[in-house]
Amino acid sequence: MSHIDRIFVDTFGYSPEIIAAAPGRVNLIGEHIDYSDGYVLPFAISDRTFAAMSIRPDRLVRIASAQRRNKIVTVNLDDIKPGLKGEWERYALGVIWAMGVKEGLDVMIDGHVPLGAGLSSSAALECSVATALNHLLSLGFDLQTLARLTQKAENDYVGVPCGIMDQSVSLMAQAGFALLLDCRDLTSRNVSFDVASNGLELLIIDTQAHHSLTDGGYARRRQSCDSVVAKLSVRSMRELSLEKLSASKDLLSDVEFIRARHAVTEISRVHSAVEALEAKNFTELGQLLNASHASLRDDYDVSCPELNVAVDASIAAGALGARMVGGGFGGSAIALINASTTVDTIHSVESAFKNAGFKAPRFFTSLPSQGAEIMQRGL
Ligand code: ADP
Ligand code: MG
Repeated sequence: MSHIDRIFVDTFGYSPEIIAAAPGRVNLIGEHIDYSDGYVLPFAISDRTFAAMSIRPDRLVRIASAQRRNKIVTVNLDDIKPGLKGEWERYALGVIWAMGVKEGLDVMIDGHVPLGAGLSSSAALECSVATALNHLLSLGFDLQTLARLTQKAENDYVGVPCGIMDQSVSLMAQAGFALLLDCRDLTSRNVSFDVASNGLELLIIDTQAHHSLTDGGYARRRQSCDSVVAKLSVRSMRELSLEKLSASKDLLSDVEFIRARHAVTEISRVHSAVEALEAKNFTELGQLLNASHASLRDDYDVSCPELNVAVDASIAAGALGARMVGGGFGGSAIALINASTTVDTIHSVESAFKNAGFKAPRFFTSLPSQGAEIMQRGL
C-alpha cells in the first residue's frame, strides 16, 4: 500500500477509488510571459503531489491534506462557488467547480513539492485533482482543456491571476524533455534536455523567502502589460519587436516601457534557448539564463535580495548561468552548473546567504520528469 493510499484509509476509513500524481515545475526560461501570449520552456521536476479520491453517495465534498495535518474540511457541493471562504482547500474546490463536478467526493492530498517555493505546488495540487477527477468520472477532457480548467480554478476561484504555464507543464511534460509551450494556443513541442550526459546539473536553490502572489505585485505587472498592449494597439506583447517598442517609447510611461522590454526580450531568449539546447550549446544557454535574470531584476522588478544573492553566488562559483524562476518576490533560483561543482556551489551560496544575514536556503536537483499520471485505479 502506498503512502497516499494509507493516509486516505486512515482519514476516511476505506480505500480510495483512484490515485493520481502531478509534478511541480521549473521554468528553464521564459518568465512572466505566459500571460503575454509568449513562449515558455519549463520542465517537470521529480517532486509530485498525489491526490487520492472516491465518489460519495451524497452531496458532500470532504477534503484533507497531509500537509495540513489530515484535518478534514467538509463542504456541500452546492456551496462550491467563487467567494466561498476557505484556505488551502480552495485550490482543490476550484478544480471541482471549474470541471463542473456533480458528485460528492472524498479527497486526500499528499504534496511533495515544497509549498510557496516558486516550484508550483499549487499547479501540482490542481493538476493531481483534475487528473484524478477526469478519470474517475470519465469526463474525457484533453490535456489542453484540463490546463485551461485548472488555470480557471486558480484565477477565478482562488483569485490568483496566474498564467497557463504551470498547469500545462504539470499535465503535459515528458521525462527527459523540456516543454516548449506556445501560451497563445497551448500547442507544445518536446525539446530534449539532457543535462546529465553532458556532465551538467540543474541546481535548484529555494531561498526560503516565501512570497504571496495575492498581495498585488503580480497583478500590477499584468496590468502594465495590458496597458502597453492597449496603448500600442497590438493583440499581445508577442506582436511587438524591440524596434517597434523603442519607436513607441513616447506613448508609454517609463515603467510600462521597461516592463514591455522584459516581455519582448524574454520571448526572443526562449527561441534562442531552444536553438542552444538543440545544438547542445550549454555555454550559450547559461548566458541566456543570466540575461533573463538581469531582465527580471532590472526591467520587470520581480526579483529580491535573496534571489540576487543566490544567482550572483552561483555564478561566482562557476555556474554556466543562473536566474530566478517562478513569479518572483522570493521562491527559487536555478543554476546550470558542472556536476563536479555541485558541492562548491552549494557552499558558496550558503556562505553568501550567511554573510547577508538571510535564512539558510535549501538545495535540490532534479532531472526533467514525467507529467501528471494515474498511479492506481481501485475496484
Ligand atoms: P507555489 O505554487 O509556488 O508553491 P503558491 O502560493 O502559488 O506557491 O501555492 C501554495 C499554496 O498552495 C499553499 O499556500 C497552499 O494553500 C496550497 N497548497 C499547495 N500544495 C498543498 C498541499 N499539499 N496541501 C495543502 N495545500 C497546498
Ligand atoms: Mg503557485
